[in-house]
Amino acid sequence: IPLPPRRPIRELPDELISQIAAGEVVERPASVVRELLDNALDAGASQVTVRLASGGVRLISVEDDGLGIPREELTVALRRHATSKIASLDDLETVGTMGFRGEALAAINAIAELSILSRFGGADSAFALDGRTGELRPVARSVGTTVEVRELFFATPARRKFLKTDATELAHCIEAVRRHALARPEVGFSVWHDGKLVEQWRAADAREQRLADALSDEFVAKSVAVEHLGGVVRVVGRAGIPDAARSRGDQQFFYVNGRFVRDKVLSHAVRSAYEDVLHGQRQPIYALYLEIDPSRVDVNVHPTKIEVRFRDGREVHQAVRHAIEDALAAPRAGDAVAPSG
Ligand code: ADP
Ligand code: MG
Repeated sequence: IPLPPRRPIRELPDELISQIAAGEVVERPASVVRELLDNALDAGASQVTVRLASGGVRLISVEDDGLGIPREELTVALRRHATSKIASLDDLETVGTMGFRGEALAAINAIAELSILSRFGGADSAFALDGRTGELRPVARSVGTTVEVRELFFATPARRKFLKTDATELAHCIEAVRRHALARPEVGFSVWHDGKLVEQWRAADAREQRLADALSDEFVAKSVAVEHLGGVVRVVGRAGIPDAARSRGDQQFFYVNGRFVRDKVLSHAVRSAYEDVLHGQRQPIYALYLEIDPSRVDVNVHPTKIEVRFRDGREVHQAVRHAIEDALAAPRAGDAVAPSG
């Protein structure tokens, strides 16, 4: 075998490092929406407005009424590995925010035109930062932050080629908002596309209300309340009655400490709970919310944080399985809570 040609080992230029890293975080417009919504919620927003143009490829703007960013930190926010959310390994163990890697804004800035407009609480002016030029100028706005992302993947044509039609990308963006909305009923969300309001979910007092608004009345009508307290994990939410099962698993939502996740342990637990009542490939509907001590779940498994690792996988599996079995076995008196145990 002939030896391959060899080039010297060199450190990559910063811009290329960022573009490579961005590939892990930003797959499509919906990935940007997800990251910006995480940031808005971490900032304590009570109202979030998402504006999209051309399925998010031309424009993604996420506006919140959260804490805002002080002028002197705006530039730092765009640097790689810059975050206000953790400062030490100990913090990482107990992190309760959606973000902590300090990568999203840097990643987005590497592959799109990004600008941040923000007014920090107590500051007497808002400032806009242009991600490309680094220019900061005063602007008018109330307390909170708007991040605008234009021309996604303009610098990385390889990625741009993988984009689907605007309608498909829009659907993924809306799904990203829906996932956040299902986690946080007390926050209002609206989504605009090409100047038209396409979704609006008003702040709700109860999770059932948000599930009805963001999924359907039918989702709530055809599901039972799940409540399993005690043990290492608390499981609440709703699980569909067998009749509500669908051919597609498009109404299956798992949250761990407020974060939407996909997880084999959890899906397996659900499958076992429905084993005797669902046949063939029928997919149950559910929205299940797990609360677990942050030190017992590792969220730093994947850059997009959609995967987690449980320290007590067995206990989590049992808790979810029993929570659903109990809920399905309980007499259905409207929204009666299933007795546990
Ligand atoms: P991370 O969320 O992991 O900290 P990001 O790159 O997403 O990393 O954001 C960097 C920092 O910018 C955050 O830690 C936060 O301090 C600030 N930030 C980003 N978006 C917002 C926002 N909408 N409101 C307030 N601060 C924000
Ligand atoms: Mg973030």
